[in-house]
Amino acid sequence: MTIETSESSADPAKIHGPAGQFRFCPRCGHEGLHIRNSRSLRCPQCDFLYFFNSAAAAGAFVFHRGRLVMCVRANEPAKGMLDLAGGFIEFDESVETGLKREIYEELALEAENFRYLMSAPNDYTYAGVPYKTTDLFYVCEVPDLAGIKPADDVAEYLLVAPQSLDPARLAFSSTRAAFAVLLGRLDAIEAYAAPR
Ligand SMILES: [Zn+2]
Repeated sequence: MTIETSESSADPAKIHGPAGQFRFCPRCGHEGLHIRNSRSLRCPQCDFLYFFNSAAAAGAFVFHRGRLVMCVRANEPAKGMLDLAGGFIEFDESVETGLKREIYEELALEAENFRYLMSAPNDYTYAGVPYKTTDLFYVCEVPDLAGIKPADDVAEYLLVAPQSLDPARLAFSSTRAAFAVLLGRLDAIEAYAAPR
């Protein structure tokens, strides 16, 4: 991707990424924002300057007795493909708190023993709007599956041994990258995720 270093009045529709989604200044209503680069824009009328930052999102490899709890996506993007429990981190929330909240919202499970695995950038287009995200991946475990109930953007769940999961079924490139790291560390993680 080419990063523009000088401001331009390029047609926003031709700019890829979030900066291309805005035509009018949100402060003064002036039409014709200057696209400074793919991450920021400036209003020539009122000097409003705005930066588009990457949104933090988190996903969890949720283990139960050595098997993974995988979610089937209920909505686009990637409807029907496999995904991790997780989602966007909200304002003023830690990643761990947000991830625990998402796992409860999506599966009604109480997860514990969170361990950080890795992070990767991702593109997430929702309702036609492209978002840039920084996905953080964790491993955690649920001692009890009794109350599991798929909800929110999860259609159903699968319990799978990590070794038998086909990475091509995973919805996002960042998740596939994290899954490859997980597989490489499974010897260490399996002891951690084994029944107690
Ligand atoms: Zn303005």
